[in-house]
Amino acid sequence: MDDGKPVWAPHPTDGFQLGRIIDISADSLTIEPLNQRGKNFQASVNQVFPAEDDVNKHVEDNCSLMYLNEATLLNNVRVRYSKDKIYTFVANILIAVNPYFEISKLYSPESIKQYQGRSLGTLPPHVYAIADKAYRDMKVLKMSQSIIVSGESGAGKTENTKFVLRYLTTSYGTGQDIDERIVEANPLLEAFGNAKTVRNNNSSRFGKFVEIHFNEKNAVVGGFVSHYLLEKSRICTQGQEERNYHIFYRLCAGAPEDIKEKFHLSSPDCFRHLKAGPLKDPLLDDHADFNRMCVAMKKIGLDDTEKFNMFRVVAGVLHLGNIDFEEAGSTSGGCVLKKTCGQSLEFCAELLGLDEEDLRVSLTTRVMHTTAGGAKGTAIKVPLKVEQANSARDALAKAIYSRLFDHVVTRINQCFPFDASAHFIGVLDIAGFEYFEHNSFEQFCINYCNEKLQQFFNERILKEEQELYQREGLGVNEVHYVDNQDCIDLVEAKLVGILDILDEENRLPQPSDQHFTDTVHSKHKDHFRLTVPRKSKLTVHRNVRDDEGFIIRHFAGAVCYETTQFVEKNNDALHMSLASLVRESKDKFIGELFENSNHSKDTKQKAGKLSFISVGNKFKTQLNILLEKLHSTGSSFVRCVKPNLKMVSHQFEGAQILSQLQCSGMVSVLDLMQGGFPSRAPFHELYNMYKQYMPAKLTRLDPRLFCKALFKALGLNENDYKFGLTKVFFRPGKFAEFDQIMKSD
Ligand code: ATP
Ligand code: MG
Repeated sequence: MDDGKPVWAPHPTDGFQLGRIIDISADSLTIEPLNQRGKNFQASVNQVFPAEDDVNKHVEDNCSLMYLNEATLLNNVRVRYSKDKIYTFVANILIAVNPYFEISKLYSPESIKQYQGRSLGTLPPHVYAIADKAYRDMKVLKMSQSIIVSGESGAGKTENTKFVLRYLTTSYGTGQDIDERIVEANPLLEAFGNAKTVRNNNSSRFGKFVEIHFNEKNAVVGGFVSHYLLEKSRICTQGQEERNYHIFYRLCAGAPEDIKEKFHLSSPDCFRHLKAGPLKDPLLDDHADFNRMCVAMKKIGLDDTEKFNMFRVVAGVLHLGNIDFEEAGSTSGGCVLKKTCGQSLEFCAELLGLDEEDLRVSLTTRVMHTTAGGAKGTAIKVPLKVEQANSARDALAKAIYSRLFDHVVTRINQCFPFDASAHFIGVLDIAGFEYFEHNSFEQFCINYCNEKLQQFFNERILKEEQELYQREGLGVNEVHYVDNQDCIDLVEAKLVGILDILDEENRLPQPSDQHFTDTVHSKHKDHFRLTVPRKSKLTVHRNVRDDEGFIIRHFAGAVCYETTQFVEKNNDALHMSLASLVRESKDKFIGELFENSNHSKDTKQKAGKLSFISVGNKFKTQLNILLEKLHSTGSSFVRCVKPNLKMVSHQFEGAQILSQLQCSGMVSVLDLMQGGFPSRAPFHELYNMYKQYMPAKLTRLDPRLFCKALFKALGLNENDYKFGLTKVFFRPGKFAEFDQIMKSD
């Protein structure tokens, strides 16, 4: 690189800047920026990368660049983005930058037609190209396929997922209801599972894997949605400038008057669960979205009764949230309902089919079974303190809403049933690696999931690369990569994994986050992936113990988790009194939502013990089923990228984007290719490119022999390239060198 040619050197906001190396020491380089002469700075050797000769050039497949590194990738994506080309291939992986505006005709019906049946690489990069590849692979290989869409919040996962679903149903559907239903399920899912957050006005607060099923003739026959980890905390508390789930506001804004009256609905600022955050968002039209959602419900085949049942529960949750407690003022130490809340209690009970008095008692007392005097199972009512009653109320709201969400998904699945399917194409839309200022159980679960997906990605990409080498008869050594199995084990190993330690804690008579944290540290004292957080990290913002948390070194970086509430968030069970209250609701719909509640094997209620349903282990099981599925299918990857934090068009924040590319494993892919034979060119292409420089005698040879003769004549080092069956493979950078020799000769 020290040949005076421009290099990419680090830049704090752009990611990289062009510069020239002007001095080299043992461990660093002195760089002079090209556009700021004299403002020299130091950079470590491994942060500086060779630049392409023409930095304004862009390519559809990043692998056809001369130099494969994170800087040239970032630059290629940047140049393309500036021309509204949001998609770029890195071999078979698709990078998709969110444009934050509608690019004319990009997703038009004509565009859909164009991509049908066309091989990858013959048309500009597009998510349709990935969808069609999945379809053709399914057809030819007679094997199910999956498309894994990843990226951080707001990167465009859900939008791209919808484009894939629309593409496949439009192109390969039978033109019947089913096609439309698969697409129309989304507005409904989004109404109940999406919310405005600071990162995305329409953020999915759950993960999903949508399968489109095909028959023997490769036509769409049905669909199936699996969902993961709905964010339950949002139902009762939202971050600053964030909202609750869309459905709440939509219902208040759009429901017909008679329904509003029946459900005692008014403006969102009358409800505790809504009024803390912004009631409206300039970009969201709750009224129109309500109507849009109702159309979707109709199209997927839900009738009015079902629709109103769902709305009724939503309204019930809102009224439940308005119930407040105050100290009882007696010696019992318990609490009572505030006088002003009588109506909320009444409305809530009415809408959820509960007895008003039962609801009041269940919220303010807890039934405990004692073993006193050996008399097993004597039930006593323990009065709750205000704080405890508040959490009982919130736990009930979360339980009802999350079960409603489960129900919505179940109903959606009943709307596109299929008797027999030959294969499916599944699209995974799940949150990417998360690293916030405060990281809790939700981030812990999602990052664990991303470790698993990253491992899958590594295996698949490596495997494909090695299979190609094998097919071409290259006989190269295995490609190595960083294995993250140790991190996965740290989380999910039996007994000693963090999830099992947490479950153990939940089963103790008096579980505590602190004891859980101590156990994690004591069981993994010298674990490479786990450390105790430094005092400053956790205590700056909150008054917590020094070590109430842990740091995990993930593949994408170290994350500090605060473990307060881990125990609570890991438990899906309601207290006995609340569970039986809702299970025995007079309302059939509510009763059914809770039919199987607190009945899992973990919840056998021992005397005096609270029930426990493990959230973490349920997720682990779901995730392992998902991974089994992914392993049994062919796979494609779409890496979505968020171009800026302002959520605006035409703004490319390089450093932010670079870190996303690193987190998504794209940079490791480049490293991997860099360690193998990343540049490759079919014999005939090389022949056409260079024949003009060669004597006529040589050009009469067939392309393969032509290349052989050419390389020999140039005296190329045999370690720098390999001849496959159809292509020449070059070691990193060697193709560029070869090209230079050719053109300078
Ligand atoms: P989250 O993890 O929060 O659910 P996400 O990755 O699913 O985020 P999306 O909801 O798909 O993000 O995208 C965020 C917003 O960006 C969309 O609401 C839309 O306005 C815009 N957007 C995303 N992709 C495109 C696209 N291809 N064309 C135009 N706008 C887009
Ligand atoms: Mg989403």
